[in-house]
Amino acid sequence: MEELNRDTLFSASEWLRYTRHLQLPQVGAEGQGKLKNARVLIVGAGGLGCPVSLYLAAAGVGSIIVVDGDIVDVTNLQRQILFNTQQIGEGKAESARQVLMALNPEIEVIAIAEYLSGENASTLVASADLVIDCTDNFSARYLINDICQQQQKPWIFAAIDQFSGQCSLFSSETGCFRCLFPVPPSAMGDCNSAGVLGVLPGMLGTIQANEALKYLVGQSVPLKGVLLVVDALELSFKKIAINRDPECVSCGSGTANTSDQWSEKTCSSEPLDHRAVTVEQFESLRKRANYIVIDVRTDAERAAFNLGGKHIPLTRLAESLASIDPEKTLLCYCQSGLRSLQAAELIASLGITSQSLDGGISAWLKQMPL
Ligand SMILES: [Zn+2]
Repeated sequence: MEELNRDTLFSASEWLRYTRHLQLPQVGAEGQGKLKNARVLIVGAGGLGCPVSLYLAAAGVGSIIVVDGDIVDVTNLQRQILFNTQQIGEGKAESARQVLMALNPEIEVIAIAEYLSGENASTLVASADLVIDCTDNFSARYLINDICQQQQKPWIFAAIDQFSGQCSLFSSETGCFRCLFPVPPSAMGDCNSAGVLGVLPGMLGTIQANEALKYLVGQSVPLKGVLLVVDALELSFKKIAINRDPECVSCGSGTANTSDQWSEKTCSSEPLDHRAVTVEQFESLRKRANYIVIDVRTDAERAAFNLGGKHIPLTRLAESLASIDPEKTLLCYCQSGLRSLQAAELIASLGITSQSLDGGISAWLKQMPL
């Protein structure tokens, strides 16, 4: 047996496990062998990372690296299908590893309980054949884009927001993410500030996994250099060609301002700013006469549940501040603490003292019994 190439040799259980792939002429034993020899870096084990990692593990991708510094939270369970109620409070990367290994013990899963950062990105990307962006923020995507550009590694982007999603595969042959988004679009929310239909990351993550598997077995990938735009309300799918920008700071001749290429902002629950106050501080401060509590969420969120105070949505905040006594301190809250922090920064820039409930209503609900 020694002279056989062990890398492409399947065990009896693998032959059985991958029967439905082996029956496909587009995959077959050769394609399945390519999957077995592939190493894929999945950045983020959230709404997108869950279906992506489940399908790649089930498909027999031989080595999967899951990178996520977050822990499982009850608000994740509406869409993050790797996790269950018993795993609340546990690290996402290690929880994911356990679930994926239980699904397919024939593969290797490496859990990295860190966020992708300027420190670890180069090494992690270098170790992989393909990178899949399952993050929820533009800083991480710019970082993935720039490192993949440097190392000529292909990567599959997806983003979701409320009922819409986008997906594309970038490679050295296509325009890059910065050609498409030279600056972060302000309309694109992140997971903590806008709602999302639970099934939407499942749809986009499955499309990412579909493109990943075809790429790895050597089939054509329709989303290479093409942006797919999905509208889950209309159930419409549109494809838009991505043109290379000759002036692009990443793949073209443009020069990057390295100081603002990316920040380390992520959807973490760490206090982001000196304006953030804890739930206990919020409860104490709101009783004081010189404090005004402001709910900066949308009308729909306000109607569903609120902690009292005035309701001024973030989008209407600037125009509404004239009616507020500038001697008071404004205590803002939202669902997760991100929008209220933006509101507090905006208010402070207008010369009014302001603070933000760190972690928002989600943190409040965990600590204050109803
Ligand atoms: Zn570019």
